[in-house]
Amino acid sequence: MSLTKIIATIGPSIEDYESLKSLALSGMNCIRINTAHASEESIEKIVKMRNSLEIDTGKIISIMVDLKGEELRILTKDGDIEIKAGKDYKISDRTFHAWEIAINLEKSIGVIEPGDSLIAMDGRVKFHVNRVEKGVLSATATTSGTLKNMGRLNIPGRYVPLASVTERDRQFLQLAIKHQIEFCAMSFVQSASQINDLHDLIMEMNGNLKIVAKIETKKALDNIRDIVAVSDVIMVARGDLGVEVPLSEVSMSQKEIISAAHRNGVPTIVATQILESMVNSETPTRAEVSDITNAILDNADALMLSEETAVGKYPAEAVKTLSGIAEYVERKVKHFPGPDEYFGNRVTFSISKATRVISDEVSSDAIIVITRTGNTARMVSAVRPSMIIIAAVRQRLIAGFTTLVKGCHSCNYKLRFSGSYNDPSDY
Ligand code: PGA
Ligand code: MN
Repeated sequence: MSLTKIIATIGPSIEDYESLKSLALSGMNCIRINTAHASEESIEKIVKMRNSLEIDTGKIISIMVDLKGEELRILTKDGDIEIKAGKDYKISDRTFHAWEIAINLEKSIGVIEPGDSLIAMDGRVKFHVNRVEKGVLSATATTSGTLKNMGRLNIPGRYVPLASVTERDRQFLQLAIKHQIEFCAMSFVQSASQINDLHDLIMEMNGNLKIVAKIETKKALDNIRDIVAVSDVIMVARGDLGVEVPLSEVSMSQKEIISAAHRNGVPTIVATQILESMVNSETPTRAEVSDITNAILDNADALMLSEETAVGKYPAEAVKTLSGIAEYVERKVKHFPGPDEYFGNRVTFSISKATRVISDEVSSDAIIVITRTGNTARMVSAVRPSMIIIAAVRQRLIAGFTTLVKGCHSCNYKLRFSGSYNDPSDY
């Protein structure tokens, strides 16, 4: 198994137990549930399968509930619409009026101005806005493509005040807490205060959930130092990021985000189009192999598969391919760099650095960390020792938190005392 962790998004391709099991055996460490396509029942079913998987495979597998917040969507009146470059279209609010295309949130129409671009379907369909009159946009298509109902919409450069946690998200949060799910992801994060608000909400709900901040807007990039300081995990969400900032900037942004997180000892995930060609093909492209290699060299802790495992034809092959590339890179590059600067607890950081030096000197096979919260294991990983880290923890939930930490495996331990200690639970 690779030191780099693997997240697989669940969907129709892997919803049965046997498929999920073959992914776990191929190297999957975490199951992501995209709540855009999830129901309460589906989450309960996934939690049950995960619990059985852990017994069957002996591996700790975590779950991430990806909350969507309020999202901008394109609506089409009667199914798919073939958009032709150069043609003019009318786009209205969700009542459609006399038109075929609409935007789901009325408040977005108020901020759009002539000259703006509307980017739909992750960049596959684009419009140039010519006029805004009585809540209806007149726009010219600048690309040809298929517009689907509920397709994603971005308005680069325009700030639409979207709620970061919706009522539906709250219900998913409650469910995640009830089932002791490890991670919740916040989409379209713009500022550190949104992460703090989510922390408060989780506390109010008496939960212990780690927050993954999805960096997918220009604003989040601008505020990255503040966001990494309050987040538990950072995701480079390249799908939306590649629409919100020029595509040519995405690779360099990835490096900057990872290094900012790393300076706070915060684990990072690189997501989207990791092995997209494997949705339909049994082998990846050279460019994908190169991109994965680059993400690992950038020092990411985890890589995330989306359509590849959710709707792809070769989900287990995608996980195997990813883990095979990671293992190769990790064999070639024995020493990954620790953070160049560090902004967290200096005591833990120094102990972690010393641990790396000692384990290198004595060529140990593993580092064992006894940790109550998982934080020490996370910090030891942040200095990037070349051997695996075994986190000895007392609670299953804490073991789950370490599944996204590079090189870290957890085991539950029970202290046995023969002498005068009556209450070992303090340890
Ligand atoms: P999404 O996030 O798939 O939930 O949109 C990932 C991304 O935008 O890259
Ligand atoms: Mn996204």
